[in-house]
Amino acid sequence: MSEKLFSQQLLAWFDQHGRKNLPWQQPATPYRVWLSEVMLQQTQVSTVIPYFQRFVVRFPDIRSLAEASTDEVLQYWAGLGYYARGRNLHKAAVIMAQQHNAAIPENFDALLALPGIGRSTAGAIMALAFQHRYPILDGNVKRVLCRFTAEPDWPGQKNIETALWQLAESLLPERRINAYIQAQMDLGATVCTRSKPDCHCCPLQTNCLGRQTGKPEHYPVRKKKPALPERHCRWLIYRQSEKILLEKRPEKGIWGGMWSFPEINIDMPMDAILARHAVDDMIDLTPIRHTFTHFRLQIIPLLIDINQHDQIETNDNQQWVTITDSLSLALPAPVNKLIQKLNRGVT
Ligand code: SF4
Repeated sequence: MSEKLFSQQLLAWFDQHGRKNLPWQQPATPYRVWLSEVMLQQTQVSTVIPYFQRFVVRFPDIRSLAEASTDEVLQYWAGLGYYARGRNLHKAAVIMAQQHNAAIPENFDALLALPGIGRSTAGAIMALAFQHRYPILDGNVKRVLCRFTAEPDWPGQKNIETALWQLAESLLPERRINAYIQAQMDLGATVCTRSKPDCHCCPLQTNCLGRQTGKPEHYPVRKKKPALPERHCRWLIYRQSEKILLEKRPEKGIWGGMWSFPEINIDMPMDAILARHAVDDMIDLTPIRHTFTHFRLQIIPLLIDINQHDQIETNDNQQWVTITDSLSLALPAPVNKLIQKLNRGVT
């Protein structure tokens, strides 16, 4: 598909469905565009509107904002979250009051040098406030482009991000740049949404590779998490006359202070352990996998029925308890599940 077609389709859609009456568009002065772009970083339009309206009544221009105290600016920001944005906004206003004659500079590099303005925000201000041909790559645009191209890699990777910027730049139309940038934002916010892209209503659907995969919501792909290390252990479930042997886990470590089964290293030879007791029966139960934040635990449970005439010596951290009573103790989830199974006679 030609780059031209992309912007033509988007602009035609914008004329019918785009948002043209947002408070910062009426009028779209550079000050109001800058303010809205900063407020919209990580925040939805519907949340921003009332804050924006209150803000511009109290701070109608750069000078009034620069002359206010940071505390007062933050009072008007309170509730929007990400307060560094509010602080940076104030700092930028002070700089613009001092260095730019209390005006938003019509220069990409000068914008980029201001606190709280990154490449995408600077591009948005250049396009929306001054009608200069600059691309943006905010979360919405990134999502649309990753889906449109079915980008197979995580867009946070430097080389992928660079490629997306190049693509965004190559797609810019010669004319109506402000409408086009707004259209990109609107499409991402209202049609190509994070979890439910509405491809049937999308002007880009014919050429969208993400849609052709049948799973556009799969894009942008997430960062691959490194595989968690695996650990293995064996749980010895001693059972004797409807009672099981439980052991209190050390306070430190996983499931600290909870009741579990005696645990041994997977490499420990079983013969020596079993030789200590009169064993009536022994069953290998289905292994359990449990995932912790930093590792995966593979547990091999072994049900050992001890002859009723045998006595197992217990230490202070162990107790024989009936299956029913055990369920009222503090048990890790996999232990609880295992005991429930034993209770139902399922092994
Ligand atoms: S066709 Fe679907 S996935 Fe592709 S850009 Fe449009 S809404 Fe997003």
